[in-house]
Amino acid sequence: MDHTGTSLILAAVGAALAMTLIVAVRYVLTSGLFAWLTERRMPGLHRRLSPQVRREIGWSLASSAIYGVPAGVLAWGWKERGWTRIYSDVADYPLWWLPLSFFLCLLLHDTWFYWTHRLMHRPAWFRAMHAVHHDSRPPTAWAAMSFHPLEAITGAVVVPVLVMVLPLHIGVVGLLLAVMTLMGVTNHMGWELFPRWLVHGPAGRWLITASHHQLHHDRYRTNYGLYFRLWDRLCGTDGGLGRFDGKAAGLP
Ligand SMILES: [Zn+2]
Ligand SMILES: [Zn+2]
Repeated sequence: MDHTGTSLILAAVGAALAMTLIVAVRYVLTSGLFAWLTERRMPGLHRRLSPQVRREIGWSLASSAIYGVPAGVLAWGWKERGWTRIYSDVADYPLWWLPLSFFLCLLLHDTWFYWTHRLMHRPAWFRAMHAVHHDSRPPTAWAAMSFHPLEAITGAVVVPVLVMVLPLHIGVVGLLLAVMTLMGVTNHMGWELFPRWLVHGPAGRWLITASHHQLHHDRYRTNYGLYFRLWDRLCGTDGGLGRFDGKAAGLP
């Protein structure tokens, strides 16, 4: 291999490692923040879960590499080779495309998640790919990326495919990553972050927050969705909102 080929590969490997580090640090900071808030709000809620939390952190750090490597290579390809359809000048597409593309990505991600998640609840798939995530009983903020590597792959393909297929403003990509991170962490932390009027109001009939995902971890075969209750409602798998043990915020 010539000199240029070697340096290209080294650059891509460097980007993959850097992105893995970014994903891991993002995980530690976000989950750490919400685990700390949980401890402040409900001291001792997860006191007896130390061995579980260690497992959650281990799987999540492994997932960081599975998410980070393709994302890093793609980020390198975007800068160096013009891969992806990410754009940085808002004038390149109509302004209405910004919010529309954002919601479209959430809807596509939600659809992918719902159906792969349902598949992973078939007994053989569950044992092979998804039992790791449900080993958290109850989950904590550290369980945000606690996935078996095979399940992590199903999540890691989402953003790379979206940025290859749809023209997305770099700000929209950043907002998507922020929403993915926030919901992944807060849906697992054992209490409701969002106000009661939102969770129990009209919007809450369609949006998924911790109250909804908690019931999935309690009952397994209900509430498979990620951001929206759309597919759960359409397919009859919506079990309504769960309750948290103890005095959780915003619940009676
Ligand atoms: Zn979960
Ligand atoms: Zn599940």
